[in-house]
Amino acid sequence: MTAAQQTDIFISGAGLAGLAAALGFAYAGFSVVLADPTPPPSGTADPTADLRSTAFLAPARALLDEIGAWGPLDADAIPLATLRVADCAGDPPAIRTERAFTSADLGQPAFGWNLPNWLTRRVLTERAACHPAIDLRLGAGFASILTRDREALVTLSDGARLKARLAIAADGRASPLREAAGIGVETTRYGQKALAFAVTHEKPHENVSTELYLSGGAFVLVPLPDHEGRPASAVVWMNDGAEALRLHALDDDAFGAAATVRSCGVLGPLTPVTARALWPVVTQRATALTARRVAVIAEAAHVLPPIGAQGLNTSLQDVRTLLDLTRADPSDLGSDAMLDAYARTRARDIAARARIIDLYNRLCRSDAPPLQTLRSLGLALIHDAAPLRHAVMRAGMGG
Ligand SMILES: Cc1cc2nc3c(=O)[nH]c(=O)nc-3n(C[C@H](O)[C@H](O)[C@H](O)COP(=O)(O)OP(=O)(O)OC[C@H]3O[C@@H](n4cnc5c(N)ncnc54)[C@H](O)[C@@H]3O)c2cc1C
Repeated sequence: MTAAQQTDIFISGAGLAGLAAALGFAYAGFSVVLADPTPPPSGTADPTADLRSTAFLAPARALLDEIGAWGPLDADAIPLATLRVADCAGDPPAIRTERAFTSADLGQPAFGWNLPNWLTRRVLTERAACHPAIDLRLGAGFASILTRDREALVTLSDGARLKARLAIAADGRASPLREAAGIGVETTRYGQKALAFAVTHEKPHENVSTELYLSGGAFVLVPLPDHEGRPASAVVWMNDGAEALRLHALDDDAFGAAATVRSCGVLGPLTPVTARALWPVVTQRATALTARRVAVIAEAAHVLPPIGAQGLNTSLQDVRTLLDLTRADPSDLGSDAMLDAYARTRARDIAARARIIDLYNRLCRSDAPPLQTLRSLGLALIHDAAPLRHAVMRAGMGG
């Protein structure tokens, strides 16, 4: 049997969070082995492509900049200068209350910058592949772990063995490393599913992100770069499960017509230009963020309903915290003290965001008339009272 390879850090999962963590640690001077059984997709036609987009908030953009990834992404990132929020009612739905929040109101150029996930993953993968401190193992996944006081012994699915001072679980909501470390999850299900896809439309989006609330869930249009010369947007459409499955099964024309009706026609007729991905809507939290020599981050640690652009942005805060702690004392990498500090720092923020998004989703999807009225009044109240509006906008921007 060959000797186990020594590395500072082993990361399970080369999704967006695992890749960002690998690059962050590599730039900080640590050696990293990053493994993922699934190679990155080649483009939107690839059936494994992640058709979601992410609105990167300012702290997340700063992290991508630090790891050299923002430059190659900048040209495709659409700044979100205005957030239009509308409360809808009726069948077909019509807007009954609408407010626009502008980033200029806070003296900021944008709330966030939107990028397709498949593109961000491709750029991060290319950067990781050519960084000398990253040993990128695509096609091999995490298989098992044995931890000791001073190191973690990791075996990959191809039989390779590693010794790492820190093992990071960034392997998604069903995280095999988290499970192997004996950490469970608490999950809240809402009976909802989210459809994610991209559309072109007649009217330009003018860098406005639009959220339309109706019983069953939100319909969100987030600006993308033009597609074949036509204005384009990423869509997240939340519905009760059965309705989401019905919509998912429609042909393109019927689906585009249904999406246009649900969008209240705000951008004119919508034409779907990608396949549709279906995601269960859940709040899920790991029962612990660490175990001996193991840190759990991103969706392995927390999954949030896809409203308010908090999911990956919260994950990149996990990465930022780990990086700050290890930079402060590199010799402490993976120690109990460092891992305790990570858990202490992140647990409260993750719990607060999960609670707020959970409440927001329950309020937004409700068809109870008093809650519908509260939704409409709440939107007007938050927007029309400047101090409240500014506080909510700052919190939403990652403050
Ligand atoms: C519809 C929708 C819209 C969203 N919009 C936003 C948004 O606007 N803003 C935002 O911040 N967030 C958003 N999110 C959340 C965001 O998309 C996710 O949090 C993020 O993509 C998850 O990234 P991840 O790296 O944590 O996990 P994943 O992307 O799931 O990556 C996990 C990786 O682990 C790998 N893996 C699995 N098993 C193993 C193994 N044994 N060994 C090694 N690797 C393994 C998988 O192959 C995968 O590549 C949205 C989510 C949804 C559902």
